[in-house]
Amino acid sequence: MRVLDTLTGRHLPLPLSDGPGGKELKLYVCGVTPYDSGHLGHAFTFCVFDVLVRWVESKGIPVRYVQNVTDVDDPLFARARRDGSSWQDLAKREEAAFVQDMTVLGWRAPDVMPRVSDEIQGIRAAAEGLSERGFAYSAADGSLYFEAARYPGFGQLSRRSRRSMLRKLREEELLGRVGPGAKRDWLDFPLWRPSGAGEPSWPSRFGPGRPGWHIECSAMSMRYLGEQVDIHGGGRDLIFSHHESERAQSESLTGCVPFARAWLHTGMVRHDGRKMSKSLGNLVVVKDTLRVASPAAVRLYLLSHRYRRDWEFRWPALARFERLVQRIRGMRGSGRSGSSLAEFRAALDADLDAPRAIRALRRAVASGDRRGVEDMLGILAGTAALKPAAG
Ligand SMILES: [Zn+2]
Repeated sequence: MRVLDTLTGRHLPLPLSDGPGGKELKLYVCGVTPYDSGHLGHAFTFCVFDVLVRWVESKGIPVRYVQNVTDVDDPLFARARRDGSSWQDLAKREEAAFVQDMTVLGWRAPDVMPRVSDEIQGIRAAAEGLSERGFAYSAADGSLYFEAARYPGFGQLSRRSRRSMLRKLREEELLGRVGPGAKRDWLDFPLWRPSGAGEPSWPSRFGPGRPGWHIECSAMSMRYLGEQVDIHGGGRDLIFSHHESERAQSESLTGCVPFARAWLHTGMVRHDGRKMSKSLGNLVVVKDTLRVASPAAVRLYLLSHRYRRDWEFRWPALARFERLVQRIRGMRGSGRSGSSLAEFRAALDADLDAPRAIRALRRAVASGDRRGVEDMLGILAGTAALKPAAG
């Protein structure tokens, strides 16, 4: 199998590590910030990585899959403040709703889903380590900042110029402040920072506060998968600043290069011509789709798009996949031709070409290859039901 690595832009053989029982895949995927996590953009990302996990495991290669829950993060606190609820209640409720959605969509759950709020010790230790090695400095605003200029490859992963990085930081509202008492350069980012009112706070040698966003994932990844992962994944909007920063601080902390042997990123899902977002009011959530289609049809529809590309959600297209699933449910006989299955395997081995795999599935349905169809669905649809949910 080959995968397209974001950093090098090259197709690489699937990177694997030596595990206790032979080769294994160490996979870290950036998970949700549990404040409004049920939309199809997230479902797309996690269904794509679910197919990767299932496909690799079907080859007899064990996968160690870690996906974090970012329950210490600005958008979550802002939402809790706005709703007048506690951040813990909001995070717990939204995390449960996310897991419920993904369970209905038939995922093979990650082996570990660490929550930032449970992982403060390791995250703080990572910040301390960067400070001791001279990659970070304390500012009078109470924050510990990573000094981006100390990492020569900063910007390589996202292929962005300094100007483009600054523009994205401004868009993400992560630009912060430069000057006396604040950070030294616009690209520097906080590893540790003082907490705002109503936000959780933990003691540290840099003063009480909470971790910055990026160091959270570096620390959790290292705790559960070691200094190096085989594949680090997430949505394309995370390449900069999140993954760029993760890469810089992880490699600076351990000296183990590369931190991730391959980076895989999923495209954005649009609706009504724009990226889905709560503020634009164009969100489609998983539950909306399950009212008109079976979970298996939703999965097949999501996966009918090439994973790296942006795409537009369309209700009529979802309906076409519901009709495909109905045809599958009505299949009789036990023919097995085999040729579609070979095409299916070749498609997934080619950087997880799920649209091509679905074309093989359609051919198998058309030729009455019922066992072939079952094998393919086991990868593409996971354990998602072929029948619409009752009610
Ligand atoms: Zn992350």
